[in-house]
Amino acid sequence: MSVRRTHTLANEDAKAALENARKDRTQPVLIAGGGIGGLAAAVALARRKIASHVLERRADFHEEGAGIQIGPNGTRILRLLGVAEALRPYVAVPESIRVRDGTTGDELACLPLGGWIAARHGAPYWVAHRSDLHSALLRAARAEPLVALSLGFDVAEIATDGQVVAVTSTDGRAWTGKALIAADGVWSTVRSLQFDPRAPRFLGKSAARTVLAADAVPDTLRKMETNVWLFPGAHVVHYPVANGRELALVAIVNDTHDDKDWSAPIPANWVQQRVPPCTQSLHDLLENAQTWKRWTLHTLPVPRTWSRGPVALLGDAAHPVLPFLAQGGVLALEDAAVLADALYRFDTDMTGALAWYGRQRRDRAAHVAAASRQNGRIYHLSGPLAQARNLALRSISPQRLMARYDWLYGWRAD
Ligand SMILES: Cc1cc2nc3c(=O)[nH]c(=O)nc-3n(C[C@H](O)[C@H](O)[C@H](O)COP(=O)(O)OP(=O)(O)OC[C@H]3O[C@@H](n4cnc5c(N)ncnc54)[C@H](O)[C@@H]3O)c2cc1C
Repeated sequence: MSVRRTHTLANEDAKAALENARKDRTQPVLIAGGGIGGLAAAVALARRKIASHVLERRADFHEEGAGIQIGPNGTRILRLLGVAEALRPYVAVPESIRVRDGTTGDELACLPLGGWIAARHGAPYWVAHRSDLHSALLRAARAEPLVALSLGFDVAEIATDGQVVAVTSTDGRAWTGKALIAADGVWSTVRSLQFDPRAPRFLGKSAARTVLAADAVPDTLRKMETNVWLFPGAHVVHYPVANGRELALVAIVNDTHDDKDWSAPIPANWVQQRVPPCTQSLHDLLENAQTWKRWTLHTLPVPRTWSRGPVALLGDAAHPVLPFLAQGGVLALEDAAVLADALYRFDTDMTGALAWYGRQRRDRAAHVAAASRQNGRIYHLSGPLAQARNLALRSISPQRLMARYDWLYGWRAD
């Protein structure tokens, strides 16, 4: 593939670079951001024989330690991308989601996953170390001659004549492409330059995340399942990762500290002080976890417009959904699959392709975002409303509860 480097795009330079790029039919699709969404988009495009160039701000691809749940709608795409097999040795396959009242420890529901959900949706429910998912996507991208990767490229400026795009980094390097996909996360520079200058809104909650070795987990909690503990204004989730050798642990609690940093270290007692009094096993688990990082939760409404000419949004840059349904990363995978389909269908008409892509995705993403918000409200109820929730969870059959999410997990790219 040919990717052309230009100098910093001052007005005249920008015009010349765009002019040259317009004549060059081998121009790649530029992708700002090499996270889960950006890499998945690059691999999905390559599977459709479309060249791309991923521009990533970080100087290396080290991923922060945390877990990620990948529902069947995500694992189905990983299969399509040819990434599932490489990831399989690193995942765990939980048999169920066990939901408990965090204060009493009483079980409220045990929702089926494992073979039940795989048979229902034709793809498994996996839990993994985030870095294992990212590494599998990165290996697939690096193995693809149609994918170029530039590290240490912090997108700062964008110029477009409506047909091609030129992107410049903070240190003055520049590339051109036939389209630009903003996969640069919740604080997307591309979104703020081209779409919406508003900063995401702080939710007043933070997620404290850690990963423990399996032998630091109390025996009663060392099971092949996802666990959710509900408290007034807080909840704790944990599940095995790295094929059961480790456990990912997340506590989502009220917080007043608004921060852009998604991996600021916090002392262990920060978490212990904010999770309300709980049963001994969870207390021990929280106490055994020593190295925590904080991810402050931010959100923006899902936009109706996902593209402007040859520039489009993808993943958290388009829809920073809240993590109460474990779907943000999976939505980015879905976006990637639909984007590649759009560019394949529309061939040289980038503007048409990206407009179609946005129309395919916006209602779906808005639906998932709304369901995540609603889950968050339900998880964090207190008083009589929490009691009503607990009663409902106990009285509805687990299969019926899970069947309510058929619209979510049953989604298909075609
Ligand atoms: C506590 C928590 C738990 C979660 N659990 C789950 C879960 O179980 N399942 C799930 O599916 N999702 C989960 N999510 C959501 C998921 O992590 C995100 O939705 C997902 O990472 C989004 O991927 P992305 O590629 O869009 O963005 P990111 O992963 O944020 O990647 C963006 C990339 O762009 C780069 N970048 C930023 N700015 C620039 C720039 N100017 N120039 C170049 N590069 C740039 C960044 O360095 C980064 O590599 C969770 C989120 C939280 C907070």
